[in-house]
Amino acid sequence: MKREKIAEVLKNGQVGNDVLVKGWVRAFRSNRFISINDGSTINNIQAVVDFENLDEALLKKITTAASVAVSGKLVASQGAGQAIEIEVKNVEVIGEANPEEVQKTVMQPKKHSLEFLREQAHLRFRTNTFGAVFRIRHAVAYAIHKFFNDEGFFYLHTPIVTASDAEGAGETFKVTNFDPLDPPLDEEGNIDYSKDFFGKAVNLTVSGQLEAELGALALGQVYTFGPTFRAENSNTSRHLAEFWMIEPEVAFNDLNDNMDLTEEFLKYIAKYVLDNCLDDLQFLNDREAKEDSQKPTAERNEMSLKDRLNFVVENDFKRLTYTEAIEVLQRSKPYKKGKFKYDVKWGVDLSSEHERYLVEKEFKCPVILSDYPSEIKAFYMRQNDDDKTVAAMDVLFPGIGEIVGGSQREERLDVLKSKCADFNIPEEDLWWYLDTRKFGTVPHAGFGLGFERMVMFVTGMTNIRDVIPFPRTPQNAEF
Ligand code: ATP
Ligand code: MN
Repeated sequence: MKREKIAEVLKNGQVGNDVLVKGWVRAFRSNRFISINDGSTINNIQAVVDFENLDEALLKKITTAASVAVSGKLVASQGAGQAIEIEVKNVEVIGEANPEEVQKTVMQPKKHSLEFLREQAHLRFRTNTFGAVFRIRHAVAYAIHKFFNDEGFFYLHTPIVTASDAEGAGETFKVTNFDPLDPPLDEEGNIDYSKDFFGKAVNLTVSGQLEAELGALALGQVYTFGPTFRAENSNTSRHLAEFWMIEPEVAFNDLNDNMDLTEEFLKYIAKYVLDNCLDDLQFLNDREAKEDSQKPTAERNEMSLKDRLNFVVENDFKRLTYTEAIEVLQRSKPYKKGKFKYDVKWGVDLSSEHERYLVEKEFKCPVILSDYPSEIKAFYMRQNDDDKTVAAMDVLFPGIGEIVGGSQREERLDVLKSKCADFNIPEEDLWWYLDTRKFGTVPHAGFGLGFERMVMFVTGMTNIRDVIPFPRTPQNAEF
């Protein structure tokens, strides 16, 4: 008999049919009811065994976490909680699991802290929470490809090893083949990277944007979706050293088009999850509600997870300029009462306390801030006519903060060159980038979405380490 996925059996199984399922035992009650999960869905199938027909030795091996193959007839379930169950004809234990050892793991069916689950990242996939998170993570990735494909974008693979530090976005991880104890030195005693594998100093990419621009200026609209590395030593709940980023880039788009695309894109993802991840989303929704009920009112979510997703789908994002945001902040209660830790004045970068105030207290919806002071943004962002600001935009989400950063790019060669000078970027390092502005340059724009930040938003998880299978953070590269 061919194995069927539990998701399929629960959805389309007909009473009377014979089925074979394989999976892991989640629980075995009263020597009679086996709950089996095979990862295809958060829901377990119940298999009912007739004790009389099973030998004692086999029965002992059916324990939590063991893997089993179960075949039998689908019958209408007597118990609550499921419509159908399997009346077992045959059970085979594929792999045993020592109950004493299972006790010490996250597979022991009881409540575990997320910290404990992180320590067992190799096993946390076996829990309902992480099963749900990683099925949704997959759905978000798929939705992203689908969105861009349907809109006529081309998926462009930009390099992971690169000589450019795109924007000085953060500390890079160096990549070298040299013996760290004995690298070749030049006459001045510096490491001589001309003798290294690539003949120059290279690093892991912090962004695929510059290369994506090259693609967009011929293919029209492209997007990247790849790993990104930043050696920033910030141990926050929103930063990873290795994360995934999606970077669309569109020829002929200006900043407004860019905002429209971002908003449409983020709404599409939220809607896709609402429409396609019902069971997992409901589980995480209820899980959060349960956690919230044990917290003081002030720390609870004002809206449920599903309501937050619906809210994003149904409401326009609030758009305002950086300059307007500074004014809003300076009129705010926390500002007047001296409650902000960091100063609010024109020219300084907003800190996350300011961003959160705007999103969560002032506007209570996603916010797109635009037109930031040139000094605090990257060299490639298009200079506005006021000569003080650039056509940049950040999208801020409730509970997350910055989820997207983007801009219209500087397409004018002379302005771009003077920006390079201002930012101390040698033109010869970026000759290939500058070249695009010589041959039929056009306005264009794009943005970067932090994939894990979006997965945090749609799952309600509050630590970024809990939405990536194997987090890479300072002092942590286990598994
Ligand atoms: P932040 O201010 O939050 O550090 P950033 O300004 O450095 O973000 P960008 O360089 O604009 O971010 O990168 C684009 C997007 O990538 C961000 O909006 C965010 O969603 C995501 N991102 C940036 N750094 C990280 C990180 N270390 N871990 C996970 N996602 C990140
Ligand atoms: Mn950063």
